[in-house]
Amino acid sequence: MSFRFEPIGYVRSCFVEKFAIPRQPHLAPAARGVIELLPPYDQPEAIAGLELVSHIWVLFVFHAASSGPEHLRVRPPRLGGNQRIGVFASRATHRPNPIGQSVVTLDRADPGRLAISGLDLLDGTPVLDIKPYVPYADALPSARNELADAAPTGCSISWNEDALAQATAAAARLNQPVVELIEQCLAQDPKPAYQQPTPRREYGVRFWDLNVRWHYPTQCEIRVLSVLPA
Ligand code: SAM
Repeated sequence: MSFRFEPIGYVRSCFVEKFAIPRQPHLAPAARGVIELLPPYDQPEAIAGLELVSHIWVLFVFHAASSGPEHLRVRPPRLGGNQRIGVFASRATHRPNPIGQSVVTLDRADPGRLAISGLDLLDGTPVLDIKPYVPYADALPSARNELADAAPTGCSISWNEDALAQATAAAARLNQPVVELIEQCLAQDPKPAYQQPTPRREYGVRFWDLNVRWHYPTQCEIRVLSVLPA
């Protein structure tokens, strides 16, 4: 038996590359985006009732990851990237079927356009379905996951004076919380776990239309060097 699914819409996101996207939603509440719904789901009928809902599940396709039956074991970044576990014990992007699920905040619902935040989704992500978050069923206080029992702890962030001025100006231009976005995403320490940073080595990522550069003065201290138009 096989199934064929068509996207109901696409995500427009602050994350235009995979690097430095948080590993799960809500690690960066300042991460914002929009789900653009395709016809016929852009009709008001499709979202009637969503005004009563604060959070939604987004079921999506990991369109920028490989998939297939060969992905039985994965090496999750949070285990240091060198320990293998079964794919079904992980949220890895490389999966037999490349389906992801994220709970995001629904900030506003207009026909054809859902404003969301706290997302961990790449720009252009195809959306398969949207479902309301149901607190009594979806939040389980007694749930246990010893592989991922708490949000990752991260690095401290400091700014070069120029970089902070650039980020503040970009925030005003884009009408987005750019300073918070950078701080929340970089605090997760996006570099690969196996890499030992040196103060001379610079890293960079694009958020929105901005090229953010930083370095590590010490092992877990990040200094933002510049925030310039990409
Ligand atoms: N919350 C989802 C889940 O549990 O299914 C995604 C978790 S996955 C570990 C999160 C990572 O997926 C992000 O850090 C980002 O690098 C990657 N990602 C996000 N959107 C993607 C896409 N459309 N294609 C491939 N990778 C994507």
